[in-house]
Amino acid sequence: MPRSVPTICPYCGAGCGFYVNVEKGRATNIEYMADHPASEGALCSKANASLEVLYHPDRLLHPVKRSGDQLTRISWDEALEAAARGLAGTLRRFGPDAIGILSSSKCSNEENYLIQKLARLLGTRNVDNCARLCHAPSVVGLNRSLGAAGMTNPFADLANSRCIFVIGSNLAENHPVMSRWIHKARSKGAIVIVADPRRTPTSWMADHFLQLGPGTDVALINAMASVAIEQGLIDRQFLDLWTCGYQELKSSVKDCTPSWAEGITGVPAEDIVSAAQAYAASPASSILYSMGITQHTTGTDNVQALANLALICGQIGREGTGLLPLRGQNNVQGACDMGALAEFYPGYRRADDPSSIEHFRQAWSASDLPVGRGLTATEMIDAAADGRIRAMYIVGEDPVNSEPHGGHTITALESLDLLVVQDIFMTATASHADLVLPAAAWAEKEGTYTSTERRVQWSCRAVDPPGEARTDLQIVCSLGKRLGLPLDYPDASAVLAEINRLVPAYQGITRDRLGPGGLIWPCPSVNHPGTPILHSSGFKTADGRATLLPVHYRPPAEKPSERFPFTLTTGRIALHHNAGSMTRRSPSLMQRAPNLFVEINPADAARLQIEDGDDVEVSTARGRTRAAARTTGRVSPGVVFMPFHFPGTNILTPDARDSQAGIPEFKVAACNISRSD
Ligand code: SF4
Repeated sequence: MPRSVPTICPYCGAGCGFYVNVEKGRATNIEYMADHPASEGALCSKANASLEVLYHPDRLLHPVKRSGDQLTRISWDEALEAAARGLAGTLRRFGPDAIGILSSSKCSNEENYLIQKLARLLGTRNVDNCARLCHAPSVVGLNRSLGAAGMTNPFADLANSRCIFVIGSNLAENHPVMSRWIHKARSKGAIVIVADPRRTPTSWMADHFLQLGPGTDVALINAMASVAIEQGLIDRQFLDLWTCGYQELKSSVKDCTPSWAEGITGVPAEDIVSAAQAYAASPASSILYSMGITQHTTGTDNVQALANLALICGQIGREGTGLLPLRGQNNVQGACDMGALAEFYPGYRRADDPSSIEHFRQAWSASDLPVGRGLTATEMIDAAADGRIRAMYIVGEDPVNSEPHGGHTITALESLDLLVVQDIFMTATASHADLVLPAAAWAEKEGTYTSTERRVQWSCRAVDPPGEARTDLQIVCSLGKRLGLPLDYPDASAVLAEINRLVPAYQGITRDRLGPGGLIWPCPSVNHPGTPILHSSGFKTADGRATLLPVHYRPPAEKPSERFPFTLTTGRIALHHNAGSMTRRSPSLMQRAPNLFVEINPADAARLQIEDGDDVEVSTARGRTRAAARTTGRVSPGVVFMPFHFPGTNILTPDARDSQAGIPEFKVAACNISRSD
């Protein structure tokens, strides 16, 4: 009998649900989930093509090990023994800080929980996930300002917004199903403001489009705050009741006039004033942002500036308001909730707080656990390059393509004594590994995933993994046992039961309660309905108040120069996802978006005698890559754009990082561009 199995999309953080139809043990097609609360039966091109990836002939079918330049098939027994022996040897010879572990925001909550537990039981502090490359500034900045880092309101609540401010997010391409909620709000009269260095499909929805220069967000946001204050559009009652630090904030933005901001951002002062008035004066305004805000040396400042704006205008804690950080990967929110982060144990308990450590030491019956912040994903690459890290275990991540300055990443990984990679394909990173462990894909395993809405959903197993591939949960438990660690769980439900006990926001999110649409955390008890809107009765801080934290404009780390006269900015397109390890294996997506391109303004192209479609070379201080030129008015003169789904883009991006959240500055690099002859 054919079966319809409910699963969660393996791509972006929107968390759309769909059914995989299965006949005779094989997934035959996808069926839409009309009653899903966020996606309402819609899916974008990537999810529609996801079965092409599941059955791609490149799937890894058995473990392999490197012998010289050759990869040789080995048994699971040999692979696990070699991985355990290598990690134990590193531990013995160099200590726990010589081991780095990258968890995966493609994996379920239960798998992330186990990966960070394995790391900490092993004694290393160095565990992180790709949130470091997308929303670490949201984790740091929103926790600091509001006491919680999650998206404050669900997508469906955008229908209640009267003004929607989208900044640094091309959600019409990157979270396309969710942009439907903006269209719905617009059709009911909501005003839409979009701020972005590019004229993207998202900007086509805008009543106010602010085309700011890359990396100038703080100047724009502070100027909007200044207008709101000067024109008396702030919410005094809300400020008095629920915030602290208003006077300091007010003096910090006093000189951030619209004309001052025009000089920095390039946005006309009158447009800044109109946008600020629209946002501040509306009865319910929401802010949506994504990696255009976070992937900067000022990523945390950008997030805090947005939090300041929302707070002074009282646009938070109610229907139609709030701050909505749009997470990139499908379980990046969950990976952070589960403590797969250098700074936090599960439930955002600080890794440098001895009481957190004692809590988990007792819960896990561990004799000792590491205290203190570990190295972030990007810092682990640096530490591998200089010999502080000697062994890495990388689950479902492809740092060769996703970290900045790709040449440096390859050199670092090749310096390791041991690199174990666990994935569904032979990624660029896996091709440098000593051991490659074949993992199951999303539809071949079960467990929970937490979308950007904080919606925790159960994804069911539809089909068996191919060949000898195993679930990440099975592999981590087997590896843990070989290392003598108490990681013995029969299935995801058993792990979730432990999460229920140890992560307060997940306490009431038990397996039997997870029907269609799941539950939105915090859900502190089994009778609790979940919490779609955060901060409706105060903030998760000691005194229940949010903190206004002044931030000041700082320019990006790299400025255009004579040698590199353009500003390169990077981002995503509708038909590919992140480092592309899955979507570049989808024939239908590749047919429509086959190669790396670079957008350049027609005036710049004419000056450089570059025509649309020409093969061009883009270079930065880190390296050079080739791409097809697209001449387009989407980018301003002096700015070029490249998507980061193809090998090549992140060869160019800089090492510079946000000092507070550790995120690299993917969004601004000084570059040159010329025709390839
Ligand atoms: Fe999947 Fe995101 Fe597309 Fe929804 S919007 S179908 S979650 S990639």
